[in-house]
Amino acid sequence: MEHINELKEYMSTHGIRFREDMTGENCTTFRTGGRITLFAEPDSADSACRLLAFADANGIEYFLIGNGSNLLIPDGGLDKLFVRLSGELNDYRIEDCRLICGAGASMAAAAKYSVNSGLMGLEWASGIPGTVGGAVAMNAGAYGGEIKQVLKRVDVYTDGALKTIEVDPDALGYRASLYSFPKMIVLTAEFELLPDDGGAKSRMDDYSMRRREKQPLNYPSAGSTFKRPKGYFAGKLIEDAGLKGMSVGGACVSAKHAGFVINIGGATSKDVTDLIKIVQNTVLEKFGVELEPEVKIL
Ligand SMILES: Cc1cc2nc3c(=O)[nH]c(=O)nc-3n(C[C@H](O)[C@H](O)[C@H](O)COP(=O)(O)OP(=O)(O)OC[C@H]3O[C@@H](n4cnc5c(N)ncnc54)[C@H](O)[C@@H]3O)c2cc1C
Repeated sequence: MEHINELKEYMSTHGIRFREDMTGENCTTFRTGGRITLFAEPDSADSACRLLAFADANGIEYFLIGNGSNLLIPDGGLDKLFVRLSGELNDYRIEDCRLICGAGASMAAAAKYSVNSGLMGLEWASGIPGTVGGAVAMNAGAYGGEIKQVLKRVDVYTDGALKTIEVDPDALGYRASLYSFPKMIVLTAEFELLPDDGGAKSRMDDYSMRRREKQPLNYPSAGSTFKRPKGYFAGKLIEDAGLKGMSVGGACVSAKHAGFVINIGGATSKDVTDLIKIVQNTVLEKFGVELEPEVKIL
């Protein structure tokens, strides 16, 4: 990595915590992948913006990671600066019917807090194991809900500056968003919710129960491995292709939910990508449907 010494010195003198011991295994929910050269954890919007501006000015390649719940990092690691938001960027609060979150906050925890505070609109998000920033970047969704329906305002680092943007719902689509790395780095997000109609808590509990029943939550994974192809369900196609339980090394198509590739122990990222390719080829051959990975393969 170029300019690594200047970068370390910058972070040391500006009080930005960094680590050199991080790997894909300890920063993604798939628990695979090699070493990340430098891992920085700015703890405020101001320190994040300064760090990103320093990296931009010096041509330092970086990646913005949330909770790594939709990522696959190569086994050989990445010679890059990874930035993970921390400190006050992990906080969230409620003002009237608005939920205001640092982008590093847990999406699930913030959603639960909103429901327990008498609001509705994010009960579907209580099982999303990512950060608020990752949920905005992916336009995360479940059980008929999606970020797009409730996101009103974001503070982002873009083009070298901090900007507040009133959200245009058309800028968010199926598992995609304009408010995402590398174009924009989300630092805070504001959601407009509604007073609870009396059913938010039971809906949230019902969604959690359905997740526990249907999803292989006891194994490392990145959730649904593939996007939903138009007119089909990825899991059903994979199951109908006879691929449930198929494995490559430690990567396996879950027997509980065929839409999930899971790490049953000791998987490498290559095992996962090899298995993804087998699944894609088989489904294409049998049903003529192209499966596109939802997980971001770096
Ligand atoms: C068990 C399980 C269940 C899941 N269920 C669902 C589900 O029901 N619905 C669903 O939509 N997803 C689901 N997911 C996938 C994943 O949790 C979501 O995509 C989540 O929103 C990713 O957030 P993250 O913080 O982990 O992002 P990461 O995986 O760290 O990053 C994902 C992308 O977002 C970008 N990003 C992260 N933070 C920021 C930021 N602050 N600013 C700009 N870009 C950023 C990254 O650069 C990357 O491109 C599931 C995953 C697992 C493991």
